[in-house]
Amino acid sequence: MSYRSCRESEIRSALQSGLVASAVPWPRAFRAVSDLHRTSTKRDRLEFSYEPLAHHTRLLARCLPLESPSEEDLVDHLPHSQVAVIGAGPYGVTIAAHLQLAGIDFRIFGRPMHRWQCQMPRGMVLKSEGCGSSLSDPTGGHTLARYCAEKQLPYGAWGVPVPIDVFTQYALSFQRDLVPNVEDLMVTAIGASNDGFELRLANGTIARVGKVVVATGLEYATHIPSEIAGLPSGLLSHSSDHHDLSVFKGKDVTVIGGGQSALETAALLSEGGASVRLLVRKPSLSWGQRPGAFRRTAYQRLRYPVSGLGRGLATWAYCNVPTLFRHLPQQVRIEKVKTALGPAGAWWLKDRVVGRLQILSDTVVLRADQRSSRAVLQAIGPDGRPFDLTTDHVIAATGYRFSLQRLPFLSGGLRPRLRTEHEFPALSSNFESSVPGLYFTGVASAGCFGPAMRFLVGTGITGRRVAGHIAATTRQGRSRAILHFANALKCGES
Ligand SMILES: Cc1cc2nc3c(=O)[nH]c(=O)nc-3n(C[C@H](O)[C@H](O)[C@H](O)COP(=O)(O)OP(=O)(O)OC[C@H]3O[C@@H](n4cnc5c(N)ncnc54)[C@H](O)[C@@H]3O)c2cc1C
Repeated sequence: MSYRSCRESEIRSALQSGLVASAVPWPRAFRAVSDLHRTSTKRDRLEFSYEPLAHHTRLLARCLPLESPSEEDLVDHLPHSQVAVIGAGPYGVTIAAHLQLAGIDFRIFGRPMHRWQCQMPRGMVLKSEGCGSSLSDPTGGHTLARYCAEKQLPYGAWGVPVPIDVFTQYALSFQRDLVPNVEDLMVTAIGASNDGFELRLANGTIARVGKVVVATGLEYATHIPSEIAGLPSGLLSHSSDHHDLSVFKGKDVTVIGGGQSALETAALLSEGGASVRLLVRKPSLSWGQRPGAFRRTAYQRLRYPVSGLGRGLATWAYCNVPTLFRHLPQQVRIEKVKTALGPAGAWWLKDRVVGRLQILSDTVVLRADQRSSRAVLQAIGPDGRPFDLTTDHVIAATGYRFSLQRLPFLSGGLRPRLRTEHEFPALSSNFESSVPGLYFTGVASAGCFGPAMRFLVGTGITGRRVAGHIAATTRQGRSRAILHFANALKCGES
């Protein structure tokens, strides 16, 4: 008996007899019940509606015999949406907020602010200044400054460090207020379809959409140097593997790296009771300067303007005019993305690191092995002599390297159609890739729009450009624009 041949009476008796067969895929069961709903008489429908439809579906899913589902059965029966946003981190949520305001119908997938809640260390403080740590709200209302004022939390555009808990709660409240329809589901595959794209979701269903915005951030970009990558997972982890560093209390931990992540991870470990050693390739550490620490002349202010990510003309340009970056030669762009805003500690972190933990600078790791239950790193120090270093655990705070090849969800059909520039997708001025309707944002767009796309400051330009382009190229967006225009005219007349 397949569900197609099920009559209402059969379903009822199956439900009543409590027959439990293997589970039937959810969408198929759902369709069976909704078909029944549609075709039964009004009286039957009334009886059938005594309990919520979902409850009947659950029972039905348990009672009907199993048949392997066809592709068509897996397509979820929500209406075909104009746009799917993949990822509900700062970029995904911001873009969704802009789409919402433009009146574009969209779906957004992912766990809201997952990286900030689970893949960054508890107790962390943002490196970006207050003025560079807001998400872009198209209406301008939901800023970090306003959130802090409402919650009576300390805030300053400059010089007041933002704790991760404050940022995460702010970002979640932004999401709840402006984008409450996030679907907590991972997208496992994206393929092209006749009129857009098909997304395979982690619950086994398929969603069909017209356009796709990829906002998956650093998810598939963690980098561990090959010299240490062979260590077993019990002895080696990436800094993004940890939210709770207190598990290392009493252990000897070696942190590799000289950037903000490495320095802050080392400080938090040391403050949490671990014995920490920091291994840095560079001869010395670099530190940012506290904004406003010195009075500056007009020339200095012009020559070294400050922005949400620090001081300097180039940094200011990355943050404020990222669209100009696209016009640089490809080689220069790729070089800048790799080196600009490079490893340096925030001004407020220095006192928690220098003199507080062992720092081995000018030191390079050559190889790593396991000896009994510990890791042995063979390194070469400033004097050029190799030495061995034994430790309980190695944390590679060695950053991220984006590569389109590493995004596991792009189908084989899409990949050859995507034009690339050194591992980054080549994008139009509206973040659209060479596959029409497929957009890449955040770190994936840094090759075209510069290093600011790795940070929160890039959400504004991205949200405006992506939503603006989608609105201009979809019927729904155009009608909405005409409506706006007509309303504006009407208001002008009255
Ligand atoms: C330790 C650390 C500290 C940082 N500090 C700062 C700072 O102070 N200031 C700053 O501006 N930036 C900082 N950054 C950079 C920061 O990551 C970005 O600014 C910001 O998180 C980028 O947002 P995003 O949405 O592009 O990516 P993410 O925050 O990484 O969000 C992407 C989301 O997509 C989801 N996702 C991935 N794949 C899928 C899929 N297949 N289906 C559905 N969902 C998916 C992920 O779960 C994730 O939640 C820091 C980064 C790190 C690692």
